[in-house]
Amino acid sequence: MLYELTAHALHEKLKAREITAVELAESIYARIDAVEPHVKGYLTLTKDIALEQAHAADAGFQNGDDMPPLAGIPIAIKDVICTKGVRTTCASKILETFVPPYDATVMAKLNEQGIVMLGKTNMDEFAMGSSTENSAYQITHNPWDLDTIPGGSSGGSAAVVSADTAICSLGSDTGGSIRQPAALCGVVGMKPTYGRVSRYGLVAFASSLDQIGPFTKDVTDCALLLNAICGSDTMDATSIDAPVPDFTQSLINDVEGMKIGIPKEYFTPTLDTEIADRVHAAVAVLEQLGATVEEISLPHTEYAIATYYIIAPAEASANLARYDGVRYGYRNENPEDLITMYKKTRSQAFGEEVKRRIMIGTFALSAGYQDAYYKKAQKARTLIKSDFDAAFEKVDVIATPTSPTPAFKIGERTADPLQMYLSDVMTTPASHAGLPGISIPCGFVPSGLPVGLQLLGAPMAEEKVLRVAYTFEQNTEHHLQKPKFYPNFADTRQNLS
Ligand code: GLN
Repeated sequence: MLYELTAHALHEKLKAREITAVELAESIYARIDAVEPHVKGYLTLTKDIALEQAHAADAGFQNGDDMPPLAGIPIAIKDVICTKGVRTTCASKILETFVPPYDATVMAKLNEQGIVMLGKTNMDEFAMGSSTENSAYQITHNPWDLDTIPGGSSGGSAAVVSADTAICSLGSDTGGSIRQPAALCGVVGMKPTYGRVSRYGLVAFASSLDQIGPFTKDVTDCALLLNAICGSDTMDATSIDAPVPDFTQSLINDVEGMKIGIPKEYFTPTLDTEIADRVHAAVAVLEQLGATVEEISLPHTEYAIATYYIIAPAEASANLARYDGVRYGYRNENPEDLITMYKKTRSQAFGEEVKRRIMIGTFALSAGYQDAYYKKAQKARTLIKSDFDAAFEKVDVIATPTSPTPAFKIGERTADPLQMYLSDVMTTPASHAGLPGISIPCGFVPSGLPVGLQLLGAPMAEEKVLRVAYTFEQNTEHHLQKPKFYPNFADTRQNLS
């Protein structure tokens, strides 16, 4: 089936005119009709736009034009990325009717390549969460076990690639929101170096951490998508003014002589032993293929979560001040006065978790507490970053588990925010340091749920990360496995909500 293939395989078929982009889009939408009622990865489908774009791509291929690698490829977009003329909700009631008047830079870049936009994917409200259960609209189900969560906050983007209801997708990662759902859904997910990809048009959560990145079925597609979205942008002052290499050049099946560090602080007693086993086995594969493996220490790792849950809410409390009912989105009707309008708008249209973050962040920044919390967190962040700087003097890439557990049951952690926050224990350290990080499939726990291997590089060292990931993938078959409910997910469960 066409929907099962990778972007690079489909490009060859499109180029050879074995298939058309319209056929491909129809194949994906048929797949969506069959399995989306069970997975619920999309908030909005844009079939009309997709078919128009597919026709345009076909015209190019028919002409024999030299078409870009993503031309005609069906791609899903996390609903936190602005799409001109297409509703962008951030899975929040407050933006239920928000239709952006412009495209995010990443969208403009993908459109230049001639992609086919399938729709907008579900997520935790404003990207705050680790399970996608904080969406104001729906719960997304993990295709590997429909009773479990897909991870978050980009759970929809991960689930649709895993369920073959998209060829690839874009997500955003602030503290792990690409890498963790990629791990839990058994797909490839990459957070590039902070500043590699323009955030113009990405609805801001925590501006010193947010990055956009790809979800794909393999590492080759990941490199292709990175090629398309990376690059400096005058519309984003934090974007790095550096040339973008051709990332497909890093797809080298060889790790001979590369040094891989294993940080001992990540292998704590709270890590599931089944996950630790899979990750150790993956590292052993890389060692067999010629990499040198050594234990390293990142001593300040234990402070990463506490630090993150000060800095991210602090920045969020400032960024979310703009949702005041005046400029866009939801507004309480008939308030007595302006202040009541602000209060009612925000208390009615923000969800619980978003309110919790705004309160934590406002407190952490308030007079008298700023030094004790925010400033201290910034100092801890510097220490975490210097740990990585020292480690990358010795090793090329750091390998860790992506998540301390496999996908958990829907509802299991919703009552306990701290439990939920601990899902990010392996991903937030690299976020603090702005490092590139990828999660790739590295096996399964006995219950059949996928496990992710996280590979981290020094800032701007995406190429080394991709090379190690590619070599692992070329010598293993984990990425080729499909969810057990495949092919149609239906009839395997009753009472689907
Ligand atoms: N789970 C983390 C949080 O809730 C990370 C989210 C993200 O990366 N957007 O903040």
